[in-house]
Amino acid sequence: MNTHEQALLEDLNPPQKEAVLHGDGPLLVLSGAGSGKTRVITRRVAHLVKVRRVFPWRILAVTFTNKAAREMRERLVQLLGAQAHELVVSTFHSSAAMILRREAEAVGLTRSFVIYDDGDQLNIVKRAMREARVEPIMQPREILHRIDQEKNAARLPEDMQVDVDDMRGMVVKRTYQTYQRLLRAANAVDFGDLLLLLVSLFRKRPDVLANYQRRFHHVLVDEFQDTNPVQYELLRLLAPPPGANLVVVGDDDQSIYRWRGASVDNILNFPDIYPGAKVVKLEQNYRSDQAILEAAHAVISKNRRRMAKKLWSERPRGEHLQLLILRDERAEAQEVARQIHALQREGFIKYSGMAVFYRVNAQSRVLEEALRLARVPYTLVSGRSFYDRAEVRDAAAYLRLMVNPRSDADLLRIINTPARGIGDTTVERLTTYADHQGISLYEAIAQPEQIPAINSAAVRRLAGVHTLLATLNGFAQGAKDAASAVDEMLRETRLVESLTAEGSDESLTRAENLREFLGAAQEFDLNRAAAAVAAATAAPAEPEEPPPADLDAAPLTADVPPLQSFLEQISLVGDADAEVGEGKVALMTLHAAKGLEFDAVFLTGMEDNVFPHSRALSGEEPEEGEEMAEERRLCYVGFTRARRRLFVSLAQCRSLFGELRYNPPSRFLRDVPPTLFGIDPSMQEAPRPVAAPVAPRRRSYDDDDGPRIDRSYSQASDMDGVSGDVRGMRVRHEQFGVGRVVSTDGSGPNAKVTVEFGAGVGLKRVIARFLLPG
Ligand code: ATP
Ligand code: MG
Repeated sequence: MNTHEQALLEDLNPPQKEAVLHGDGPLLVLSGAGSGKTRVITRRVAHLVKVRRVFPWRILAVTFTNKAAREMRERLVQLLGAQAHELVVSTFHSSAAMILRREAEAVGLTRSFVIYDDGDQLNIVKRAMREARVEPIMQPREILHRIDQEKNAARLPEDMQVDVDDMRGMVVKRTYQTYQRLLRAANAVDFGDLLLLLVSLFRKRPDVLANYQRRFHHVLVDEFQDTNPVQYELLRLLAPPPGANLVVVGDDDQSIYRWRGASVDNILNFPDIYPGAKVVKLEQNYRSDQAILEAAHAVISKNRRRMAKKLWSERPRGEHLQLLILRDERAEAQEVARQIHALQREGFIKYSGMAVFYRVNAQSRVLEEALRLARVPYTLVSGRSFYDRAEVRDAAAYLRLMVNPRSDADLLRIINTPARGIGDTTVERLTTYADHQGISLYEAIAQPEQIPAINSAAVRRLAGVHTLLATLNGFAQGAKDAASAVDEMLRETRLVESLTAEGSDESLTRAENLREFLGAAQEFDLNRAAAAVAAATAAPAEPEEPPPADLDAAPLTADVPPLQSFLEQISLVGDADAEVGEGKVALMTLHAAKGLEFDAVFLTGMEDNVFPHSRALSGEEPEEGEEMAEERRLCYVGFTRARRRLFVSLAQCRSLFGELRYNPPSRFLRDVPPTLFGIDPSMQEAPRPVAAPVAPRRRSYDDDDGPRIDRSYSQASDMDGVSGDVRGMRVRHEQFGVGRVVSTDGSGPNAKVTVEFGAGVGLKRVIARFLLPG
C-alpha cells in the first residue's frame, strides 16, 4: 500500500474501507444517519483517481443539492488538488442540464435553451389550458402538479394512460401536450424536462447513450433513497445492470421526498435490479452523542417497513435532550433565541454550529423576529429567495431573452418593465396575433404595425422594446463573461435608474439587489476563471491506459458561453442551497437539513398537526399510514443532525396560517423515553414527559462536575492568573484528561475555563483550580 492509499484509508473503519476498495460492479452502501456514507463516496472518488488511476472525467458523482455538491467538490480539491476540477460532481438536474445542452438539437431545442421556474411554468399551464380549450374543471396549479408528477415518473404526454371517461385525466393529458409544445416553441424547458428529455433521448438514441456510457466508467450517488423514478431510470441508462460500476449510498430511514415521487423501494429493490450487487452496511455512527441516537431510534423504530439496521456510537452519552414547553409560538421563539444566546455564551458553541428546524416554512417568520430582537445573527436557508425577488427575476428575464429571444414568458414579464406605457390591451392583442400567426412574441414585435387594432403610440413602444432586445441580443453574442453582459443589460434597460428615481426605501433596496445580482455574476466569472486556471495547470493524470481516441472527454461545460452557464446556475439554485453564513445560526425546514450536521439543533413546533403534519394525522389511527411513516423519517433526519445538543420545543397554543390551534404534543415526543430528557419516569404519573407543562430547564454547566482534586490553591499557580492570555495552553483534568484552553471567564482560582478535551469529551467548562498544567 503506498502512502497515497494509506492517507485515504487510515481514518476509515473496516466496512468503510471495504466500500472504498470495492473493485468493479454495482455496490450498495446502506446505513443509518451519520455513519460516514458521504465520506465513503468522497474517499472512493479520490481513491479511484489517485490509486486506481482512473481519469477524473470518467467519474460522475451525483449529490442531492448544489450545496452538497459544492462541499464534496471542496473536499475533493483537498484530496486531489486541481485534478478535482475535471470530475463531474453535481446534482441530477445540473448534470442532466449539462448533457442536454450538448445534445440540445436532438431533442428539438437549441443550445441556448432556458430553464423555466415554477412561476413561469404556471403561466405556461394557463396558456396551454386556453389553447387546448380544456374544460375548466381543474385549477392550473393542480394541473401543473399532475404534470410534474408525470415527469417524475418519466412519462411524456403520449405515455400517459388515461381512461376515456376519466375527465380530469384527459384534462391533464391535453394540457400537458400543449404545455410541452409551448415550452419547445419558446426554446425552454422546465425542471422536470431536464431529466425527462434526457431519458427519452437516451431511450430513443442508443448511439448517443453509448457515448456517455463509454465516458462515465464510474457513477456514484449520495442520498440514493430520495431518487425518483426518472432519476433512477437515468442511472440505469448511464450505468446499466447488471455489471456497471454504480455505487449508491443511502438510508431507507431518511427517505423524505415521497411527495416528489421518490420511493424507498429504490433501495429495497436495488439488489433485484442489479443482481449480484455487493452490499455493505455501516453501523458505527460518528456524529451524535448516545442520547440523541437513542431518541432518534425510538421514533424511527415504530415504522414497520424498514431494513434491519443497527447503529452504535463510541461517543459519550452526552447531555440530556432538552424539552422546551411554551405558552405560544412567540414564547417558543423567544425561548429558542434565549437558549441560543446561552449556548453561545456559556456553552461555547458557535452560532454557526447551531441550527433551528421547522416543519413548514410559515413557522420561520416568528422565529426570525425573535432572533432579530435578541440580536442573534442568523441565515434563513432558503436558497431561492434572492432569485425569487421581483427585480431579480426581471433582470434574469432580460438575460434569458438576450440568449433566447423566443422565450415568450420572459418577454411578457419585461414588456412593460421598467414602465413604458404598454398596457394590458396592447399585450392581449399582441399575444392573440402571435398565437394566430404561430410566431414568437419577439418576432411579432419586429413588425408591430401588422398587429390588428393597436394604435400608433403602441406600435412605437413595441418597436422600442424590439430595438432594445435586438441590441442586447447582439451584445450577448460577443459577451466575454457573464458580468459584462449583466452590466450592459442594466445600462441599456435602465432598470436600476428607474428604481432609484422612485426614491422610496423599498425601491432603493430593490436597486441594491440588482447591484448584488451584478455581484453574483462577477463572482461566477471569478470562479469560472479560477477553475479554468486550475484545470490548465493540473498535473496530467497518469492513467492506467490511454482513452480511446474517438472518445469525447472534454469537460461537459466546455463550450457553453459564460452568460448561459451563469443563467443555468441561477435557474438550478434549489431550496436548500443558501450558504450557511459564517458565524450565523442556520434556520431551515427539516427537508433542507438532510445530510448536514450541527453541534446543537433546535427542533421547533413539536406538536401534532404541525409535526407530524396534519395531513399525516387525518388518516387511519391507530394504524400509521405511509404519510406518517414519512413524517417519522423526517423526525429521524431532524434528530440525527445534532452532534451534541438537541432541543425540542412546543407551543401549547399556536397560530399558524392565520388559525389559532391548541395541539397536543407531538406523538414523536411521546415515543422518546422520558429518561432521555432527564425526567425520572418513576416520578411521573404517566410515562409521558410532555403530558404536563414543565418549565424550560436551563442548561447545567460542568463547573462542579467531576472529582475535586485535592490540592491547595498555591499548587495551581499556573492557572491562578487566568486573566492573562492562556488560550491554547495545555492543561490536564483528572476526569477529562488532557486538553487545550479555549477561553476563560474571570480570574483567580475560581475563574471558569473552557477547555477542548480529547476525542469523546470535547468542550467542557471547568473551574481553574481543578486544572493542572498539562
Ligand atoms: P447522513 O446519513 O446524515 O447523510 P452520512 O452517513 O453521510 O450521514 P457523514 O456525513 O459522511 O455521514 O459522516 C458523519 C460524520 O462522521 C462526519 O462528521 C464525518 O466526518 C464523520 N466520520 C465519518 N466516518 C468517520 C470515521 N471513520 N472516523 C471518524 N469520523 C468519521
Ligand atoms: Mg450523507
